[in-house]
Amino acid sequence: MSLKIFNYFNLYPSCIVVKGYNKSVLMDLDENDFSFLPNLIADFITEFKASSISKIKERYSNDLQNEVADLVSKFLKAGYGILSVKKESFLPITQNYFIPYHFTSLIVQLPVFYNINETANIFQNLVVENLIVEVNNYNTEVLNDIKYLSRLVRHNTLKIVSSTNIDQENSIRINDSVLRTAEIYHVLDGSTQNTKHENLELIYLNSFKIKSTSDFYSNIRLYTESLKYNSNFYKKICILNTGIIKNGFTSHHSFGYINKLEKKSFLKLVSSSKFRELEMVSKDRLDICKHCEFRYMCVDSRVPIKRNSHEWYFETECNYNPYIAKWQHEVGYKTLSECGIQSNKNGFKLNRKKLNTINKEL
Ligand code: SF4
Repeated sequence: MSLKIFNYFNLYPSCIVVKGYNKSVLMDLDENDFSFLPNLIADFITEFKASSISKIKERYSNDLQNEVADLVSKFLKAGYGILSVKKESFLPITQNYFIPYHFTSLIVQLPVFYNINETANIFQNLVVENLIVEVNNYNTEVLNDIKYLSRLVRHNTLKIVSSTNIDQENSIRINDSVLRTAEIYHVLDGSTQNTKHENLELIYLNSFKIKSTSDFYSNIRLYTESLKYNSNFYKKICILNTGIIKNGFTSHHSFGYINKLEKKSFLKLVSSSKFRELEMVSKDRLDICKHCEFRYMCVDSRVPIKRNSHEWYFETECNYNPYIAKWQHEVGYKTLSECGIQSNKNGFKLNRKKLNTINKEL
């Protein structure tokens, strides 16, 4: 195969390069995988879209020309693209994102301290992707409430999440009562210890903090969602056992009581801009995350705080510092302030000189 004829490298549309402050990643949306790239290489890839391989090589010194050639063979071997006679052989993937549900997750805490029958008109015909029931103890009343909700709400999956271990007997009773296989999860706050029950898995519903790259997902759905929305809050609703409505499990804001609303006012509330405000805070609008190469594969449950009409920040730091590309548990890790970065209600400041010195030493 001659590079003279096939002079363009075309990345497959499902392979997306995302540049961070210090490093880049190449997301393979088909394979749920990603690989790291130096930012310089990410720039080459961007150039591949606009220029032929020989034109790119002409722009660089001998060393970098070899780097370009190596990169092309490496990417061909990894299956990230093809050599082509054309500048563009593929149509780009659509960046439209549409979810045909009222909510992707409706989380209801049980047992309730209100009369759940009063909510029938609201739950009836609600269409959700995941109906998640958070249960703290099991009795006949709770099992009846699970049954009641699962019949009223139109849902794809029913997930029962519990902070107490659900034994085999209760697991069978739940599945019998809802007449289908419920997915049952056991939540252990902050603990990674496993459960002996084979039906139970560990999930974290409360304040989950990203800990390592194994918490990321590289797929088309999360990618397109993250381009526009905050993946942790998009189309989520949580009803506490007091009846309080929240726009996400970790959200601090209360939107009134579900048992005091009619269906019409409920639908008006959940489509209001105030209720949906956090949904719209994509990672590109958030301090720190906007400079992180993982921003389109990361679901982070921290609640964004509004600084002004277009700027948002977090009160707590992520375990990953994208300015030095280090996790908290790694040698050489430094906090944001140690790196000369400020992100709080007063603003965002980045000390580039200090960061350059730190990165040279790492
Ligand atoms: S900085 Fe933001 S995008 Fe990066 S890993 Fe942390 S939460 Fe995710």
